[in-house]
Amino acid sequence: MIMNCAQRSDYFSSSYVEARSRFNSKAQVRGLVVTTYTFAGKGVAGEALTADTVELGDPRSSNVLFIVSGTHGVEGFAGSACQLAVLDQIDALKLGNCRIVLVHALNPFGFSYFRRSNEYNVDINRNFLTSRPTAIIDKNREHAVIRQLRKTSNGYQSLKLSLMLVWQIIQGKKAALQSLITAGQYENERDLFFGGTTASASAQFWQDLLVKYQSNSLYLMDIHTGLGKRGQAYILSEAQKSSAQYQDNHRFFKHCNLVHTANDVSISSQLRGTLSSRLPEPDKAITLEYGTRGGLSVLCALALENYHYWHNRGEQPHRQSADRLKEIFIPQSRRWRAGVIESFWQILERQIQLIHSKPKQGSL
Ligand SMILES: [Zn+2]
Repeated sequence: MIMNCAQRSDYFSSSYVEARSRFNSKAQVRGLVVTTYTFAGKGVAGEALTADTVELGDPRSSNVLFIVSGTHGVEGFAGSACQLAVLDQIDALKLGNCRIVLVHALNPFGFSYFRRSNEYNVDINRNFLTSRPTAIIDKNREHAVIRQLRKTSNGYQSLKLSLMLVWQIIQGKKAALQSLITAGQYENERDLFFGGTTASASAQFWQDLLVKYQSNSLYLMDIHTGLGKRGQAYILSEAQKSSAQYQDNHRFFKHCNLVHTANDVSISSQLRGTLSSRLPEPDKAITLEYGTRGGLSVLCALALENYHYWHNRGEQPHRQSADRLKEIFIPQSRRWRAGVIESFWQILERQIQLIHSKPKQGSL
């Protein structure tokens, strides 16, 4: 990919409307068919909320690589930018027996309103449970930190939350705390990281898409931001140490920040109900994470936006907290943005090499 910093950072849009329009325009210029799934409700500017998909490569290919943006709404600006780069630069990739399916804006409501979750506060990447969440009884929902997250409404409360988190970390409870807060909960629909009680529209759409391609070997790159050190790219995999995929990941992604969430000390806790869990072979999924700010800043911004979403929706404090959330998850810095595109491209090339290294389906 031969592009300068400004050209790479220009793939970032400033709104969901703009991102969707650019995605559709670039696909049409290439003569590609855009398949649109329309969600209920309207976006922040009254626009339709849709997930749009485009398929690239030889339709006879038995390997399908999904590249998904906007699972966590506001984080979709980075994923959308990566997808625009794919549409622009696809000729530079040697796809061979691999098709790419771009899934633009899996959670368009969150993308449009600068939320991480959807209109019902459902975290799409905790929403894919095989057993109903009523079976999960979490006694930790009244933990002091959870209570503080709930009432973080201003700078003073954010500071209080930060101090509480720092104190827990000093006491060596970072991993337990991370899991407590972020692993996913199914009890309080107004709290952060709520996985929902039924399959969301995004989840249903994703499951239908997997059925459509089920006769193929399915891979996934789900693009996120907000975890890890600023400017660093991370590859998260749920592959177990004993699996062949674990070895493949080490072989093809050895130059990256590779994290196996089941084994390694991780920037992410082990999650429940992820998008990848619905793949026939979940090991074939990777999550890309791009670090933006420290974990405390991210969590405080999430808590603030969530508080105002429930208490002052549409009013100035809510709009300010949503703008702040966007800045936290998608920094304005051109260098950061260009870095996302550059590392994404390297990872994509290696992902395609990994797919090509597998024996063809049906062969001995
Ligand atoms: Zn995310």
